[in-house]
Amino acid sequence: MKHGYLIDMDGVLYRGPELIPGADRFVRLLREQGLPFLFLTNNSQRTRRDVVAKLARMGVEVEEAHIFTCAMATARFLAQQKKGGTAYVIGEGGLLTAMHQNGYAIVDQDPDYVVVGEGRTFNLEMVEAAVRMILRGAKLIATNLEPNCPTPTGLRPGCGAMVAMLEAATGVRAFSVGKPSPVTRKELNLTTDETTIIGDTMETDVLGGVQLGFHTILVLSGGTCREDLSHCAYGPERVVESVADLADFLEHGEDRPLWQIPETWQVPRGSRRSPRSAVKPTEVTDGSARAV
Ligand SMILES: [Mg+2]
Repeated sequence: MKHGYLIDMDGVLYRGPELIPGADRFVRLLREQGLPFLFLTNNSQRTRRDVVAKLARMGVEVEEAHIFTCAMATARFLAQQKKGGTAYVIGEGGLLTAMHQNGYAIVDQDPDYVVVGEGRTFNLEMVEAAVRMILRGAKLIATNLEPNCPTPTGLRPGCGAMVAMLEAATGVRAFSVGKPSPVTRKELNLTTDETTIIGDTMETDVLGGVQLGFHTILVLSGGTCREDLSHCAYGPERVVESVADLADFLEHGEDRPLWQIPETWQVPRGSRRSPRSAVKPTEVTDGSARAV
């Protein structure tokens, strides 16, 4: 059965600057087995190239075609809604680049849209300017509505928290394309049933997957713990501790899709996880990077 994966990054592959143990092995196995995959990030700060560089520093080798950011999703959506429009952007490089690449001009007066993404330079002057523009008719767009993001020391405020301030001041609700979206599945050329989303957040990854009819796997290496599951009306098809479990299943799981990992599955006796040093790097030429 053909199967491919939409994989959240924050809390799944890494947490802040730290790689989650086994994530490098998981990605290497996906590539060795020629499985299509796309990394999704709700962080609009970085471009595809920036993300590739960040992953490479952590020992995870992928191409730009493997990365899909919420900045890209937002900019493509706006280009479909209004070709050649204008935007006032509260955000950084990844978002600005995506807007330009989709034919948008960045302006500071009378924009069609106010677009908010992640950044570290958010200030009240920007908020005040944005509020005035929204009250004059600019539409409010958020690259994502996550209230916070996990870091090695706890949480940092997310784009949703910034947007909430604009919503409160203007009485206007922001629109967000969201993650995952049907666009991401099409990037991989998969049908709904062939698509599995792997994520650490119930409200975005699992709920989005459930609503779109994808298979869903929750990892507990990020923002969700097992007890949180009982508070939700929906649930993932599978729950694993981390992608290290999925890497084990890829190594020993008889080519079955990852969402078929049995709840009580363990690495078969007598076989052991491959030590990193014993695995030769493999040149991938089989089209696993066929996202574009
Ligand atoms: Mg996450």
